[in-house]
Amino acid sequence: MTNITEFLERSWVEKVAEYRVCKWTGERFPIYEKDIEMLTRISPSVGNVKLDISLPTLSPQARQMRRLLFRNETNFYKSRSSKTWEPMISLYAPENNVKVFEQKEWWQQDWDPMDFWFEVDFSKSINAQFYELRQDVPRVNMVAVDNENSEYSTGTGYCKNCYLINSSEECEDCYYGKLFQNCKRCVDCAYVYDSDKLYQCLNVKKGYKSMYLHNSSECSDCYYSDDLIGCDHCMFCSNLRNASYCFENTQLSKEEWKEKVQEYLGTRTHIAAALEKFEQVIRQKITKYASVVNSENSFGDILIDDKNCVFCYDVNDSEDCRYVNVGVDVKSNMDCNNIYMKPERNYEVLGTIGTYNVHFSTFIFNCSNLLYCQDCHDSKNLFGCIALRNKEYCIFNTQYTKEEYEDLVPKIITYMKETWEWGEYFNPSTTAFPYNDSLAMEYFPIQELVYLQDWEIVQRKMLHASGKWVVYILEPDKIISRAKLDLGGEEKIDIFWKTKEKEIGIPDNTYFVEAKDLAENISDESEEIFKKAIKCAKTGRPFRITPQEFYFYQDMGIPLPIYHPDVRYYDRLAYRPERALHVQSCEECKKEILSVYESSKAVYCEECYNKKVY
Ligand SMILES: [Zn+2]
Repeated sequence: MTNITEFLERSWVEKVAEYRVCKWTGERFPIYEKDIEMLTRISPSVGNVKLDISLPTLSPQARQMRRLLFRNETNFYKSRSSKTWEPMISLYAPENNVKVFEQKEWWQQDWDPMDFWFEVDFSKSINAQFYELRQDVPRVNMVAVDNENSEYSTGTGYCKNCYLINSSEECEDCYYGKLFQNCKRCVDCAYVYDSDKLYQCLNVKKGYKSMYLHNSSECSDCYYSDDLIGCDHCMFCSNLRNASYCFENTQLSKEEWKEKVQEYLGTRTHIAAALEKFEQVIRQKITKYASVVNSENSFGDILIDDKNCVFCYDVNDSEDCRYVNVGVDVKSNMDCNNIYMKPERNYEVLGTIGTYNVHFSTFIFNCSNLLYCQDCHDSKNLFGCIALRNKEYCIFNTQYTKEEYEDLVPKIITYMKETWEWGEYFNPSTTAFPYNDSLAMEYFPIQELVYLQDWEIVQRKMLHASGKWVVYILEPDKIISRAKLDLGGEEKIDIFWKTKEKEIGIPDNTYFVEAKDLAENISDESEEIFKKAIKCAKTGRPFRITPQEFYFYQDMGIPLPIYHPDVRYYDRLAYRPERALHVQSCEECKKEILSVYESSKAVYCEECYNKKVY
């Protein structure tokens, strides 16, 4: 970080106000003047009282890790509803002992979240009280808003006929992957926007009928290519603009092109050969320092049409944001993840749609002026509430008058300053997800696992921290075990850890087929496959083919996949650089730039890249 900070100060982009030591990681991190300006600007007011947010005690990375501990996107369990005992799939392992209702049951009017009310207790920590409420109030089995026939998709809204996608809005017939926005018929993709008929694509905007296409926009019929804009009928191409019928960046006639591409489409052998060539395309392409397109005063990665978005990743059509990851059409937010549909003035929030002035909260939909809330919809002016809909002026699910609310909330904040809780997101020990089920595991993988039953030994070991990220597992015999996370800083973190993998959706009497026995061509497969489970060629984990994806493969002429969806998911994400910045010099003009690539890769600054590409 120091390196980056010096670079930012040298280039007059950011100025450090002070340095702090992260409680979790022990690393020194800067608080920039603009961080303070932003916090001052978006600090909430209750009645006439402005509640100034305290400066962060964790580094930006640790803050993100803490939020992501509260999000599970891909690990589902066979469970039963706590209301009807009917079987359902759930984000929560049954061993977790939390009350969970199936989505429809959760929305029914026959139970009232206000029945779980209590009055704030000024002798206990606020986090502990929120945790008590969270243990009592039923949660919803999947996080979804107005989806149709998409029960295996969490973290999604307004989707229809989708399966195993997450972080997605307004999609139809999309299967497997993350961050699909306004897409149709896209399979095995990540970060795709306004697209139709894509397969194995990454970071594509306005794409049509393409496969293995990365970092491109406004393209159709493009294959195994990277960094194309406005192209059609291209294969093994990179850095092209408005090209048609190109093969390995060489212009062919329409007929030549059609004949040539047949060697790389259709059969499993063809596709394997094509993927090898695709690796070369990726290695040899002219790489821009980061995927920042049409964005003013912005840095991070995968930024499209932004203004003043810094330390941001996967953010588009947005303005004035700091440390935001995955945001669509957002404004004036800091330290947020997965926020969509015009959220504004939010701090330390995760998983929201249409929020205004919401702080320290998670899974909030169409709400304003909320503090420390979870799973609330269409409400305003709430503190410490869970599962409320169409409510106002409540604290810990208790109804107050406007005057009472405006009197009590500032008192709670004053108390939270005394208990060092104000300005901090929820305590990690209050999440219902084991670390390795949460999104934290995807972005912050653990470097070492130590199984220990003796708490004394754990404490002694932690004193000799190795600098690695270590998880000490305290109850190795349990499926969900208590654990301590040691990131090298002063504070060790209480978390949970899942000790066993579980498969769902594979009945006991299923007939298994080895990946190597699958047909070369989709036309040689039949609907018989729906009765079978395929054993992943990499991990041996069984997985099934759904009818809708089968018909997609038929339509696109793609053979059946041989890898488990999770393997496909992580293989795809491995193409993207880590969410971290490095000071690099441009390969051409040697100018210093902030790149998402490490020095082992040659990168170009905006000007040199444009000269080379256009
Ligand atoms: Zn340059």
